[in-house]
Amino acid sequence: MFIYRIAAVLAALTSSAASAGAGPNPFMPIIKVAVGGLVVIAAVLLMIGLIKLLLVMTMKRRQPQRSGRPATGRSNRRDPKSPLRREPVLIAASKHDGVEPSPPLRPAPTVKPSSAPFAEPSAGPVNGSAPTVWSIALIRELEWKRFEELCALFWQRKGYPARLTGAGADGGVDVVIADQRDPARTFAVAQCKSWSSKPVGVEAVRALWGARDHFKAQLALFYGLSGFTQDARAFAEGKHLKLISGEELLQQIEAMPAADQATLLAEVTRGDYTTPTCPTCDIKMSRRPGRDGKPDFWGCNNYRRCGARPIVCRS
Ligand SMILES: [Zn+2]
Repeated sequence: MFIYRIAAVLAALTSSAASAGAGPNPFMPIIKVAVGGLVVIAAVLLMIGLIKLLLVMTMKRRQPQRSGRPATGRSNRRDPKSPLRREPVLIAASKHDGVEPSPPLRPAPTVKPSSAPFAEPSAGPVNGSAPTVWSIALIRELEWKRFEELCALFWQRKGYPARLTGAGADGGVDVVIADQRDPARTFAVAQCKSWSSKPVGVEAVRALWGARDHFKAQLALFYGLSGFTQDARAFAEGKHLKLISGEELLQQIEAMPAADQATLLAEVTRGDYTTPTCPTCDIKMSRRPGRDGKPDFWGCNNYRRCGARPIVCRS
């Protein structure tokens, strides 16, 4: 560019110097023609250079605009020769991903495989000879956590992925039973109350009914070994809310195929199934003598750290 400009300036200088030359010169017309030609060539070259410069500048100004603009189909259609015209395909793909929720991203609850037994904290049978048949006495003998496991294992035997919720569950839900075909969905929520002297009241039943909504479950199940109050029974009437007493659970177990009953029995009565588990630290509690004529109680060896409250012994 600069070369053209210098050439143009030199040509101008030469022509002016030539025109300012003293006296008539026989070569003057030839020089004039030559200088004129040079000036024209220089001017043309200068023009070409300027046009090139302008083109480069406009290109540079356009490019950042194109990338900065929101990528729409319209902008690409306006510039069909652009190397970015493959963009619509990419945009379409990304838009599709954004609109349609992809099923694998859905939070899938951790569901135990139906055949896997629950973790065994203690080893070896400590209850003497293991029972060989189901009975209401056996169901009542189960410690609170083993009773929850019975409810979950019962549904697993029936082919539903069921899991215990563990401590700190919402709405008092102890067992979450997943849908048979879609384990990401909840079929039913269950609460299990075993060691209670009073029948289950309407408040606890109402709370479970609310938890059913929270889990978006079809069904709510309340397993209560000490039965239910009249109010609780009235509340559950006509709802997808089943109140199941110990006797009703026994009937449901006895209605299963004999092989399933035996497997369920072996799973539920493995190891120590009567000593309660600490609700906080999940270890077996220890029996302690009650003072001043009070009944014996179950205490956690770890209670200074876990703060678990003692559980009064039933016998
Ligand atoms: Zn504890």
